[in-house]
Amino acid sequence: MFKRVLIANRGEIALRIIYALKELGIESVVVYSEADENSLPVMMADYAVKIGPPNPINSYLNIKNILAAAEITNADAIHPGYGFLAENAEFAEMCRDHGITFIGPPPEAIRAMGDKVRAKKLMKEAGVPVVPGTDEPIEDVDEAFRIAKEIGFPVILKAAAGGGGRGMRLVRDEKQFRTAFQAARAEAEAAFKDGRIYIEKYLEDPRHIEIQILGDQHGNLIHLGERECSLQRRHQKIMEEALSPALDEEKRKWLGEVAVRGARAIGYHSAGTMEFLMDRDGNIYFIEMNTRVQVEHPVTEMITGVDIIKQMILIAQGEKLNMKQEDIEFRGHAIEARITAEDPERNFTPTAGKIEFLHKPGGPGVRVDSHIYAGYTIPPYYDSMIAKLIVWDENRDKAIRRLRRALEEFYIEGPGIKTIIPLHLKILENERFLKGDLSTHLLDEILGTFEEV
Ligand code: ADP
Repeated sequence: MFKRVLIANRGEIALRIIYALKELGIESVVVYSEADENSLPVMMADYAVKIGPPNPINSYLNIKNILAAAEITNADAIHPGYGFLAENAEFAEMCRDHGITFIGPPPEAIRAMGDKVRAKKLMKEAGVPVVPGTDEPIEDVDEAFRIAKEIGFPVILKAAAGGGGRGMRLVRDEKQFRTAFQAARAEAEAAFKDGRIYIEKYLEDPRHIEIQILGDQHGNLIHLGERECSLQRRHQKIMEEALSPALDEEKRKWLGEVAVRGARAIGYHSAGTMEFLMDRDGNIYFIEMNTRVQVEHPVTEMITGVDIIKQMILIAQGEKLNMKQEDIEFRGHAIEARITAEDPERNFTPTAGKIEFLHKPGGPGVRVDSHIYAGYTIPPYYDSMIAKLIVWDENRDKAIRRLRRALEEFYIEGPGIKTIIPLHLKILENERFLKGDLSTHLLDEILGTFEEV
């Protein structure tokens, strides 16, 4: 059993992990940068270790200092949260080498899924439908062009090492292809130090649907249903819900089984997410797997009653999953609105500064996962997400009403601070959204600026 767990993260997810540890009777150690000295996780953890200056390269990504902090505090395990080191296979390996348990999947699985071309190939071999495209990165521009024509335009060029919505380029017609391909290569090389590009069929107006996986180290793997994450800006999710209005019982069962099969093929354990796109004809294709807990995990927790973070900890301890697929029931509907400190009126410029007045919504079916408090200063160095507002109700219509009510009573005020709460309220008025007719372009439509890829 773990006695003490170190959290290699900050913000709301650090706090979320502290909650789980406390309830399991495990001590928490949080690492923090100079910019997070006055943060809630630092105040709430049993121990806190300063690991470096604000720049994440020197703190939250500083493997040496994080491992040293784990050793000094005698931590048995490290939970990486999401972002930062969560999908860094070398870090997971180094934990293992230092006799510290990495709370996540095996490094081999992280590595296999981290290379997006290899991931697609492995999934295809496992019988998971993948987006039509190349199985290998393409070097030669003439060959790439030939393949693109074979796949059929429009195509999307993707960096094998891409992630976080970066490293993608849409090519609508043949004439633009060569220039786009060279540019994509150069961009990928500059951004990821890996210029490998692969080609995929571009799906028009698809939905993003993903399956939450949970598996132990004894071969038990289940899924916790799907999340619909189609509301995105520049390929970054901003509102998610569970379940998806697009799947019926039968399709849900099929997709769940497909996802479990895929995860099993790479020897997966811990929590993970298989991401898919669904085209307008209802065809579903795998795009990638996230080998960590995701920002939007709470919507699944709300409809299944499963505490995903606790499960990750118990699984890492070597315990057997205490639930079977047939035990998983979906109750009601949950929606999450990511609240970022950005100004939607000024092209989503991040805002920072001191929060002088804060009122978080409450009441039945409302959950706020957030590290902010009145008097807290939002630092300018990190991701701009400052809160996740999650609501649950019996069905989608009621959940939408509840979300509107909760958004309206959420006040985050301070000089210069803006949030995207007004944008969320705007989404809730959109007719397509209300009908459940979602797509990855719907938000652009709502924003009135159709910006493609
Ligand atoms: P990342 O790892 O950067 O998040 P993903 O492969 O998960 O990249 O894709 C992110 C988003 O980009 C998807 O949710 C979708 O909106 C869009 N996208 C990716 N591939 C395609 C495709 N083949 N056709 C259309 N849209 C795509």
